[in-house]
Amino acid sequence: MERSSAQEILRQIPGVDAILLWEPVREALARHPKKIVLEAIREVLDETRKAILQNAGAGTPAAAIAGLPDLIVERIERLAQFTLRGVVNATGIVIHTNLGRSLLAGCAVERLRLMCGGYNNLEYDLERGERGSRYVHAEAILRELTGAEAALVVNNNAGAVFLALNTLARGREVVVSRGQLVEIGGSFRIPDVMTSSGAVLHEVGTTNRTHLRDYRAAINERTALLMKVHTSNYRIVGFTADVALEDMVSLGREHGLPVIEDLGSGCFVNLAPFGLHGETTVQETVRAGADLVTFSGDKLLGGPQAGIMVGRRDIVERCRKNPITRALRVDKMTLAALEATLRLYRDERQAMDQIPTLRMIAAPASELEGRAEELAGLIRGMDGSGVLEVKTMPGFSQVGGGSLPAQDLPTRVVAIRSDSFSPNRIEEMLRAGDPPVIGRIESDFFIMDVRTIAPAELDLIRHAVERMLLAGADK
Ligand SMILES: *Cc1c(COP(=O)(O)O)cnc(C)c1O
Repeated sequence: MERSSAQEILRQIPGVDAILLWEPVREALARHPKKIVLEAIREVLDETRKAILQNAGAGTPAAAIAGLPDLIVERIERLAQFTLRGVVNATGIVIHTNLGRSLLAGCAVERLRLMCGGYNNLEYDLERGERGSRYVHAEAILRELTGAEAALVVNNNAGAVFLALNTLARGREVVVSRGQLVEIGGSFRIPDVMTSSGAVLHEVGTTNRTHLRDYRAAINERTALLMKVHTSNYRIVGFTADVALEDMVSLGREHGLPVIEDLGSGCFVNLAPFGLHGETTVQETVRAGADLVTFSGDKLLGGPQAGIMVGRRDIVERCRKNPITRALRVDKMTLAALEATLRLYRDERQAMDQIPTLRMIAAPASELEGRAEELAGLIRGMDGSGVLEVKTMPGFSQVGGGSLPAQDLPTRVVAIRSDSFSPNRIEEMLRAGDPPVIGRIESDFFIMDVRTIAPAELDLIRHAVERMLLAGADK
């Protein structure tokens, strides 16, 4: 384009003040801060000027100018969006670390609202009228539920493991089975955490087999403790041997060494009736004699992110007094939600009913089938011209969060496919929606597992699919 004619067109682009008077922009101004609106206008104008000067884009300059209102409003909405947003989890992975792990029970959300909207006694002793400790809040209920002498809650389980090792084994050796030197998503590696805590790793056994005699042979004057780690996200099968916690405890007692177990998930209820086997509960681990047990708050426990330590009073006390605890401390939001969640476990039926993580794991087949049929029906009902092929079929959900690997839960999924949209395009458009719907592609179908979809979200999905159909087919 000639320089002069480009300048001519640029002069036709309205100025910021004029644009602020446009009806759609004024509507946006009623909903969003002026700062955001101005930023959006400037960004879009800049891009449009550049495009005209480079003669880029398919349309004519006049079309570019005509398209400004839509572009600007769209940009305002995008800039105004939260970065942390709700999504519909249609993956069927119940404890999905990327999607926020456990959902809180209604009563925990209510406690959060109450405790965070006003002052509270976080660090105030109401009986004595003086400074108290935040660490008392979840302790009593944790002791009651687990049978342990003492409990301490920190920021997350990685922090709990770090704190335990730093307190009990800095500069000394920790004996661990080679088969338990696991990496748990998000770059948490047991050997690395040990090293950074100052403990010296003393590996024993082989990847598939470790015997009590291996632990015994490893004990020397530098040994601080024996450690067992839940292999959370993988399973060794075949010719294997593992040492029971009870046997490690006897060995530890013989030598005056504490035995600690990192349970990872930290389940309080027996999940065998729901077809999930081999997850030892926290209570069982305490009863087996572990001196300290660490686990997450937001995995199978179904509460907020937290690292929970329960065990011998003197050991928990030493951890509490470690100055590093200050860097790992929990806030009032965590304590409020955790206490409310834990109280539900006083009645196991109540816990199963009200804690979303447990409720989703235990969802009966009839409920899943009903929800899948309902969702399929909603989508078909809206797709009048039959652009989509919609069906329900059996599938498998996962517990996730490094819990119960290789144990899939039979479920029901809704599968959609279309001649007009590639599966990737369907996945992309639903992910770009508001709220985004996150599913997966499997043999050319876009798959939504209803186990992790709340009944109230079915209509959101229907809307998302509707918008996708309106936006049009593959270009
Ligand atoms: C998940 C997990 C952790 C880390 O817990 P966070 O609460 O995510 O910090 C540590 N150990 C094991 C065995 C785990 O499964």
